[in-house]
Amino acid sequence: MIKNEIKALGLKFDGTILTDNLSKTLYATDASVYRKIPLAVAIPKTVDDIQKLINFASDNNIGLIPRAAGTSLAGQCVGDGIVVDVSKHFTQILNLDKSKKQVTVQPGVIRDDLNKYLEPYGFFFGPNTSTSNRCMIGGMVGNNSSGTTSIQYGVTRDKVVSMKTVLSDGSKVEFKAISVPDFKKKTTKNTLEGKLYKYLYKELSKSSIQNEINKEFPKPQIHRRNTGYAVDELLKSKVFDPAAVDFNLCKLLSGSEGTLAFTTEITLQLEELPPKHSAMVVTHYSSLEDCLSDVEPVMGHGLHMCEMMDKVILDCTKNNKTQLKNRFFVEGDPAALLMLELKSGSKTGLQKDLKALLN
Ligand SMILES: Cc1cc2nc3c(=O)[nH]c(=O)nc-3n(C[C@H](O)[C@H](O)[C@H](O)COP(=O)(O)OP(=O)(O)OC[C@H]3O[C@@H](n4cnc5c(N)ncnc54)[C@H](O)[C@@H]3O)c2cc1C
Repeated sequence: MIKNEIKALGLKFDGTILTDNLSKTLYATDASVYRKIPLAVAIPKTVDDIQKLINFASDNNIGLIPRAAGTSLAGQCVGDGIVVDVSKHFTQILNLDKSKKQVTVQPGVIRDDLNKYLEPYGFFFGPNTSTSNRCMIGGMVGNNSSGTTSIQYGVTRDKVVSMKTVLSDGSKVEFKAISVPDFKKKTTKNTLEGKLYKYLYKELSKSSIQNEINKEFPKPQIHRRNTGYAVDELLKSKVFDPAAVDFNLCKLLSGSEGTLAFTTEITLQLEELPPKHSAMVVTHYSSLEDCLSDVEPVMGHGLHMCEMMDKVILDCTKNNKTQLKNRFFVEGDPAALLMLELKSGSKTGLQKDLKALLN
């Protein structure tokens, strides 16, 4: 029955809907151990296609699973509904605002491709996952991705300025930072967007809920984390705390793993290119404990990157043809090592920072 309806949807679709076993098997997993054969795979071409999919899914009580590069490690792109792949047609870099240092992209833009495009302008997008040569901005926002440089540049959530989305009723809504009066105005609208603002205001204004969030959510110092919906981030806004920043629902959408809205455009805050001179210090340890106890003192040195590798990972590289050449800096058989990167605008500055780190 539903097969016929999916076929009928395909006829109204600008993109492609795949229902053959090979395609469904290919899209049954991401980079995780999970596997589920989806009902179908949709490759939308336009925002109109996405709206059609959402309306179809609501009418038929089917889940949609947005997918960018599918490098998620915890089954975020796995499900028995319709997998919606944005990696083929939503790949445009739409606008670069040099004065604001902001770029607007579609969700299927690859992170490293974006940085290649930005380099001649002297900008780059900071968050840097190990999968940066293939992962896409839509997926990075979905997972609130971070990576090696997050200690310097923060996580993806920190960089999302605004998002154009399609909500579960098919309405197109843009989320961005809004003032308190604009927030209040939105709560009066009789649309799904208005209802969302109204509901969030009602619930998050309750002191019992605020106390619970403050008590149970991870400490604010633990910045590189993704543990459920980031409603704590919404409390850090002028609507609930006059000393805070404007309210921006992108904080909640970032890290919501495609469960709250379908993203069609993202505007990101960029960084200026990092200083040219860099050095990597690799400290070796005979125990994991020694390695971990070094993290706090070294973090006080303005590192660009601080990554740990333990023996489990290092041993995986010993008999791997590709990785063998990459372990040239490993001396002996350490239990763990820290890779500490310093960057500076001048050679002398770098030497000074290196000396301070090594002392
Ligand atoms: C070897 C390896 C190393 C990794 N290293 C890191 C790392 O260093 N740091 C890190 O943070 N992660 C890491 N990851 C996890 C993953 O690569 C990143 O989170 C990456 O940013 C995901 O991007 P993606 O394009 O593959 O997203 P996907 O896996 O396709 O999607 C991620 C989430 O975003 C949602 N989504 C995608 N597009 C949309 C859309 N248009 N609208 C709404 N929701 C959408 C999806 O539903 C899903 O929930 C690693 C994974 C692997 C396999």
